[in-house]
Amino acid sequence: MAAYKSLADNSSANGGPITRNVGDSMRATIQAECDHFAGRDADDPFLFQLLAGVNKRFFHNKIQAEVIWQVPRGTVSLFVGEPGIQIEPGDPLFNQLQQARSCLQQGNLSAALQPLTACADANHPESKLLLCHIYKRQGDERWQRYAREYNRHCATVRAVPAACYYADRSLIAIHPHLQELGAPQFVLKYLLYHECCHQLVPSSDQEPHSAAFLHWEYQAPNRDRALHWLERQGFPTLRTSHGP
Ligand SMILES: [Zn+2]
Repeated sequence: MAAYKSLADNSSANGGPITRNVGDSMRATIQAECDHFAGRDADDPFLFQLLAGVNKRFFHNKIQAEVIWQVPRGTVSLFVGEPGIQIEPGDPLFNQLQQARSCLQQGNLSAALQPLTACADANHPESKLLLCHIYKRQGDERWQRYAREYNRHCATVRAVPAACYYADRSLIAIHPHLQELGAPQFVLKYLLYHECCHQLVPSSDQEPHSAAFLHWEYQAPNRDRALHWLERQGFPTLRTSHGP
């Protein structure tokens, strides 16, 4: 899971590009840091030993893989947007949202504006998107404001993961940034365990972490603690991104 480009493949609602300050917590993931580590691939008896331990303890020595410090190839998509609120049945705003939807179904765009504005003001992403479309169609400049507002919920960045597994070479790559950060052993062991699972359960680009994969992966030692550590350092994880 992680190092990368700070700019995004934003799904935007007709607004301009999002300029988002990626911030300190993302420092592990900027492209410059990736370049810094490029070409510094290294074998390490310590990593090899950790892998042997994980293999023996959790996989009965069934895993046949090498491990190396190397910037993982490829990137994952990391969500860095603001979640906003959901409006469920029973919520005070639910009736307003339903009312807006039925106005839209009847083609009465103007009547949908008031209830949608109430939902958008409460930070409801879909309402902001709908307002953006309605105002745009009506030639009202306010569409731009709602496009900007909606885009805040959609921001993603391309991130290099902290580790990856190359099935064609039976090779696990661990990002050298982790070495520089002094990643604790439990983090490295978790990553090794995760990548070993990729050897056990073949995956596709469309579904890198299938249900069968997760069945094994959930049993990783110190999983939550390790994911929390990685996320705090700005690495994308399977909880925060889509990718290997
Ligand atoms: Zn994975």
